[in-house]
Amino acid sequence: MRRKLAILGATGSVGKSTLDLIERNPERFEVVAVTAATNAEALADIARRTGARLAVVSDERRLSDLQELLVGSNCRAEAGDEALIEAAAGEAELVIAAIVGCAGLKPVMAAVEAGRTVALANKEALVTAGALMTEAAVRSGATLLPIDSEHNAIFQCLACSRNDDIARIILTASGGPFRTASAEMMRSATPAEAVAHPNWSMGAKISVDSATMMNKGLELIEAHHLFGVPSKRIEIVIHPQSVVHSLVEFVDGSVLAQLGSPDMRIPIAYALAWPERIPTPAQRLDLASIARLEFEEPDLTRFPALRIAREALEAGGSAPVILNAANEAAVSRFLTGSIAFTDIPRLVERALEESVLAAPGSIAEVLEIDRFTRQRVDAVMQAV
Ligand code: NAD
Ligand code: MG
Repeated sequence: MRRKLAILGATGSVGKSTLDLIERNPERFEVVAVTAATNAEALADIARRTGARLAVVSDERRLSDLQELLVGSNCRAEAGDEALIEAAAGEAELVIAAIVGCAGLKPVMAAVEAGRTVALANKEALVTAGALMTEAAVRSGATLLPIDSEHNAIFQCLACSRNDDIARIILTASGGPFRTASAEMMRSATPAEAVAHPNWSMGAKISVDSATMMNKGLELIEAHHLFGVPSKRIEIVIHPQSVVHSLVEFVDGSVLAQLGSPDMRIPIAYALAWPERIPTPAQRLDLASIARLEFEEPDLTRFPALRIAREALEAGGSAPVILNAANEAAVSRFLTGSIAFTDIPRLVERALEESVLAAPGSIAEVLEIDRFTRQRVDAVMQAV
């Protein structure tokens, strides 16, 4: 029996790596639904290649193009929010959540509420609604499998161990393209410089997040929700080679780590085949040629996003939602050239200065705080 999959965000970087693995293992997986934001051409191509029966483009203005592109196929073309939820909570048993940003929250939550197994790349969904999502998973019996390489590493290290035995989680961070840059260079960094990640090839938003290190801040919050470990027991260490993907220290002093070449197909394959494993074409580690694995303390002065994210996690309430929304708004402004690189953490911190409200009690409330924060960032921008 082939496993039925839905790929949310099939046209993106994680989506493409997932498709690569599925095409190498056609006897194991059957793609039933695929989605994209606006690129109807790429989505139709994926739908035809995989034989998916449902293709959803979020932008309703692209529906007629998608319909035309799929004429003569067995794939139904749909658009909009409800169709996205149908893709997430329909016939798929395993949902690959690879939409970027809070835009992925509703479909991810729909899949969790429907009791599906969710392979989660879309960290913003957990950052903004972690408690709601983990509670819903307990109610519905859904399983959350992390795709994010660090969390996938931790998940692998935790196999067969009890949560009570965890002393510390150590998240590794490459340090991004500006690890050794001066504060002055960072002030004038261009979008092209910020997205040029030294070890990973990823979508634009997460690449900028890696450059500000907000990515590691979001991952800290993600780890807290996935593994139920408090902020003070999650450490961040810079590891420029991106070979050790993260580590877990246990109460007896043992430390387990997961290593591998920096290729997202390894963690994605683990989520696809879990609890089994499948081969991947990822380059094998040659430790002698890597020769050195280095670790260093993060610099919270040049990378204030790390401090801001930790403070947001510890403040709780709506702070993580505000953190994420302000960051999404700031990153998209940076990518279009309207603010400087170093304005990103500044805008986020500013958004968090005003009243932090109680924790959202529903996804509708999360989305309301998200909208409100984006408006607040707009207002700050207009005032300067
Ligand atoms: P990407 O920009 O390459 O792709 C994003 C996908 O989401 C695309 O298919 C796009 O069409 C879709 N999308 C974008 N906006 C949307 C919207 N408003 N509504 C519906 N669909 C929308 O991003 P990516 O690098 O593949 O990252 C996806 C997620 O995975 C992010 O949350 C990221 O943090 C996480 N992640 C990515 C990597 C990586 O290596 N790329 C690693 C770890 C985690
Ligand atoms: Mg990661």
